[in-house]
Amino acid sequence: MSLIVQKFGGSSVADAESIKRVAKRIVATRQAGHEVVVVVSAMGDTTDELLELANQLVPAPAGRELDMLLTAGERISMALLAMAIKGLGVDARSYTGSQAGIITDPQHGAARITEVTPGRVREALDQGAVAIVAGFQGFNRGTGDITTLGRGGSDTTAVALAAALGAEVCEIYTDVDGVYSADPRVVPSARKIDVITSEEMLELASAGAKVLYIRAVEYARRHGVTLHVRSSFNNNDGTLVVNPKEGETVEEPIITGVATDLSEAKITVVGVPDIPGKAAQIFTIVAGTNANIDMIVQNVSTASTGLADISFTLPKSDAQAVITALTASQADVGFDSLQHDDQIGKLAVVGAGMRTNAGVSAKLFTALFEAGINIEMISTSEIRISVVTRADTVNEAMRVVHSAFGLDVDEVAVVHAGTGR
Ligand code: ADP
Ligand code: ASP
Ligand code: MG
Repeated sequence: MSLIVQKFGGSSVADAESIKRVAKRIVATRQAGHEVVVVVSAMGDTTDELLELANQLVPAPAGRELDMLLTAGERISMALLAMAIKGLGVDARSYTGSQAGIITDPQHGAARITEVTPGRVREALDQGAVAIVAGFQGFNRGTGDITTLGRGGSDTTAVALAAALGAEVCEIYTDVDGVYSADPRVVPSARKIDVITSEEMLELASAGAKVLYIRAVEYARRHGVTLHVRSSFNNNDGTLVVNPKEGETVEEPIITGVATDLSEAKITVVGVPDIPGKAAQIFTIVAGTNANIDMIVQNVSTASTGLADISFTLPKSDAQAVITALTASQADVGFDSLQHDDQIGKLAVVGAGMRTNAGVSAKLFTALFEAGINIEMISTSEIRISVVTRADTVNEAMRVVHSAFGLDVDEVAVVHAGTGR
């Protein structure tokens, strides 16, 4: 008998019918003789709706209260799912994140799991019950408060429980058949990937492929958890995310996938004195706001002015705090002005085979040029090349780049449900 963790995303439990369908699937796994721990997200777009409600009251709701509000979404789905499973004659018990022992740091809205003490989950399993755990939420011992793990965080809950309980596999059930070479909602000719390394998955997730949450992939990589991303709407095999051991080889195509991200903004610090220490000063101020900086570009100053421009990208939600902090230090740093652009899109191509293949950038830039798409920023890592374009060209960019690297297949990728929010 093995232990399996099954995580169901919001689109898989959007209404009563879906919850019944998922309950049947869980019961079938239990009846096949496995111990089953289920992690569930809030129904459909509940989290977005709760957020909108809060924002109608105040522009920046207090973190503690927002977490109280948002965690209610998962409490609804966990209880309903447990009822549905019991209705099928199998014992099931639902647990909040704190009851399941998901202990986090105190950072509201983006808490990190520091410890997992799944005593009650283990106890339920020992008594033959299916344990249903609310995803995306935890508990901080110091403050005694409920926290959330960041959007998409139910994936992390599932991986953390799989690691703590020594699960054979952590199955992530969603509304597409697995991880594709591009978002199937934008590129219907995307190909399903059967096996992907956690290294490549990490790059795709950080570049915006929200099918898996980046922190979940990180956690799985660190703890050696195998992930299986698959559809809750059929029984097809999905995508295995594996952690190859040193020396073990996995076939590595030059380009594995393309991802886009519309959640970032660009800030340009105009007219920075081109002398040592200025970048350090600017990014120390930025770091003080806890903003997550991604790409940084500094143009070369022209000899005549002795001034440079520094641009960087960051999550849209972090931009205002950074602008306020930099403005407060404008005289001290000595820059001319700030520009804020929230109409950017980021596109990244990812592939471990890039390490040993020349010409990937040339092919990427040529494809964008031929489609008339202007590149505003470029950055590279060992297995990824990212560019910034205008937001309204990024989907077209994804399609042309996907074709240019020969990733298109004839079969049309199916999106079974969900609104893609
Ligand atoms: P869930 O509610 O199950 O967590 P998400 O909406 O978070 O589902 O993630 C699934 C969605 O991720 C898909 O519907 C798809 O539109 C999107 N997606 C983005 N990039 C990819 C990719 N490379 N492969 C598969 N899906 C992707
Ligand atoms: N319900 C949360 C969200 O929408 C967590 C999750 O679904 O993973 O982000
Ligand atoms: Mg998700």
